[in-house]
Amino acid sequence: MSTHREQREALGGYALGHGDDAERAAVRAHLDGCAACRAELAALTPLRARLAGVDPDRLDDAPAPPPGLGDAVLARIAAEQATAPVPLHRRRWAPAVAAVGIAAAGVVVGWVARPVPDPLPLEAVAVQVADADVEATADVVPHTWGMEVQLSGEGFTAGEVYRVQVTEVDGDSVPAGEFLGIGPGQLDCNLNSSVLREDATGFEVLDSTGTVVLASDF
Ligand SMILES: [Zn+2]
Repeated sequence: MSTHREQREALGGYALGHGDDAERAAVRAHLDGCAACRAELAALTPLRARLAGVDPDRLDDAPAPPPGLGDAVLARIAAEQATAPVPLHRRRWAPAVAAVGIAAAGVVVGWVARPVPDPLPLEAVAVQVADADVEATADVVPHTWGMEVQLSGEGFTAGEVYRVQVTEVDGDSVPAGEFLGIGPGQLDCNLNSSVLREDATGFEVLDSTGTVVLASDF
């Protein structure tokens, strides 16, 4: 048994003369007992001649929207937003949604406007190693907020915590962070301190017992 819904969906094809004999007979049988579908078919029939004249090959040629349509739609939306009362549960979300939109726009603008950063001005500094197992080189980078030590080396005991401190002009030592030794593998570690480059005279790397394993005097 075919349902009303199936026959309703088949009406368009029926109106255009599509379908085999059995399918068309099924539609006709349903039409006999369904006033709603008879009314639908009656509404479709005037379209038959026009639909039959449509060249399927041209259906992909989407017609260009008339000029000004986009502006007209936006103006209409704006007018509706200005007059329509917004339900409370939607109004509560509106500022959050707007904020997300603004943030997203900001991200896009920021991404587009993001300047390509200049390469960091690396300053290679000499390193004296006190531990025979350790090999290391270092560069420092002057930032506006302090000095960065870029340490590369190997032989720092795996699992041991090393502490880095920058020596200031006045002799004080300022922490620049810690790193974990990884043994014979290559270790590249960037350590940051609040000491400005012009106020720094060097840095030290201490092992977990406080022994200096590596020092640099600028
Ligand atoms: Zn029906």
